[in-house]
Amino acid sequence: MLELVLDPSASPREIASLVRTDPGLALEVLRRRQPGERKRRFALHLNDALSGLDAAGLRELALRLPIRGRFELLDAAEGQACSLFARKHAVACATAAAAFARESHYAEPETAYTAGLLSSIGSLALWQLGEREMRELLARASGQPVEGLLREEREVFGFDHELLGITLADAWNLPYELHDTLAALHRPAEDLERLGLEGVDVHLASLARAGFHAAHEAGFPLHAGLDAGAPPADVARLFDSVDLPSVLERVREAVSRAAEIARPRARTHAEAFPIVMAAREELQQRLLEKEHLLRAGDSVFNVLQYSFERLGDGDPLPGVMLRAMERMDFRRITCLELDEREGRLTVRSSYAVAGETRTQEGRWAPCSVDRGALEHAARIDRESDEPLHQLALELCDVHSAVIAPLRELDPQRRLLLVADRGRAGRAPVPREEEALGSIADQASLLLKFERMERENEARATQDPLTGAATRRRLMERLEFLASQSERTGLPFSLLIMDLDHFKRFNDTMGHQTGDELLQDLVRILQSNVRKGDLVARYGGEEFVVLLPNCAIERSLELGESLRTLVHEHGTTRLERYRGLQVSISMGAAQWRKGESVAALIGRADAALYEAKHAGRNRVLRAA
Ligand code: GH3
Ligand code: MG
Ligand code: MG
Repeated sequence: MLELVLDPSASPREIASLVRTDPGLALEVLRRRQPGERKRRFALHLNDALSGLDAAGLRELALRLPIRGRFELLDAAEGQACSLFARKHAVACATAAAAFARESHYAEPETAYTAGLLSSIGSLALWQLGEREMRELLARASGQPVEGLLREEREVFGFDHELLGITLADAWNLPYELHDTLAALHRPAEDLERLGLEGVDVHLASLARAGFHAAHEAGFPLHAGLDAGAPPADVARLFDSVDLPSVLERVREAVSRAAEIARPRARTHAEAFPIVMAAREELQQRLLEKEHLLRAGDSVFNVLQYSFERLGDGDPLPGVMLRAMERMDFRRITCLELDEREGRLTVRSSYAVAGETRTQEGRWAPCSVDRGALEHAARIDRESDEPLHQLALELCDVHSAVIAPLRELDPQRRLLLVADRGRAGRAPVPREEEALGSIADQASLLLKFERMERENEARATQDPLTGAATRRRLMERLEFLASQSERTGLPFSLLIMDLDHFKRFNDTMGHQTGDELLQDLVRILQSNVRKGDLVARYGGEEFVVLLPNCAIERSLELGESLRTLVHEHGTTRLERYRGLQVSISMGAAQWRKGESVAALIGRADAALYEAKHAGRNRVLRAA
């Protein structure tokens, strides 16, 4: 940056672009280094540069500019208003707006701070554009309320500092509520409510307005000699509802701290040291927050990418949780399960970085259902009044965390992710809840996909009527067993069976009772074979029992006992089956080395065919 600024061939546009990265430093170096002509050209591009600043840059600008020596000397020498007032005023407005926000429980004091800052950014910009003109304007407007100054500005510049502020907020793409609120800043709240202006946060406008009036009260007027006018009704209400002297005290502290940090008046090293350390700490904290925000955005992207890669690879939650924890720099992440029927919140799984203890799995607490807390991701701490949040913190044994509910998968069982930085760790920063919320949404989609995959898989491998394996699964297992036995020499056999006169049974009893008989048959088969055996539906009323590690003799024995069991089953229901006997015929075959799966089935099927011809209800050994 210094090189570019000192390079005589660098264009003002290039230099102006520097202001975006470090406005305070760039302007300072320029002021000290550039001769008059250059500076004027630079001023033309300043507008460009300001338009490129984001909200954070804007804040930097306000914090760093108020304190530069040249203006301060001018103030002292000429004893009159100059941009220093506007700069101190900016810090004062912002601090006061944030203080009112906190006192009136406005959800985002940071946004109020920015709104307060924005309310005087137009004025700061005007000083940059025309220092001499501003000086003349103020002389004319002195003693008048702010409206007088606005009128004068419009006459001289063609626009006023409010309009310029709105234009800048627009150019910076600030959130619309900030931009619109700025536009509404000098309209009383009653007006806004009556007009029902869309996009205007009436409370935020009041806070910024209160910031403006408090800045004047605290001794930091927009310009010396300018009258803030009487506070409008909404501001008066805010003034009444807070401890005003303490707010004003906070404002004075903030302004003198900002000035002191940038230009310590301390004379000795010992005096300067704490100031510099405090500034360093503040800067570090801000950098850290910014880094965490960047990380948060990056981690959502990373988890998304990971999710796509591992789609369909089984339970996605552990991978997603670990990645979210690492990427967002948490020390621990926990998945809680809320069982609404049982009224329990249970630790389902937990991961932690090295050196941190995981939340104990299976730990639970009784919990009533709290629908509101299941809607959104949130940063939570021990102050939060949602009982579910308090329970989550207790189960994880921390003081603060980010909590993000997964989308509903089961109506009565909800999952929640809780990420924290340990008991002694730093509290989460704004926007981390959004990031974890997006990650939880992704995890919900993944879980849903995973469940669909499992259902699909079941459909392909399990017969829906009887629960037996499908023919596809049977063929896969057969191929596997054949190749395994080829290597190991272990025997395996199969039984193929068919219900006798099933057509007649169906015709007499109806298709539905036929279906029930098929289900009964499979139940009998499944409960009388070993664990590694496979019962499969080969066709309509034909079934195969695959017997790994089983030679023909034992398979014939098993076949015989299955046949008997089926027949007995039918006998106990003779009355219900209107005298119809139930039986099966069966062929049994043991695989032979080098034999194809089709040939094995062919031999068994031939034995079944023989059994039918020999009078049914029997088991025959394949040739
Ligand atoms: P066989 O003793 O020679 O095997 O005589 P069968 O009547 O059992 O032989 P066939 O193959 O002629 O008849 C099979 C019958 O099985 C015909 C069909 O309606 C019935 N069937 C096949 N699948 C199902 C099913 O899922 N449910 C029911 N209820 N019946 C089925
Ligand atoms: Mg048949
Ligand atoms: Mg049959």
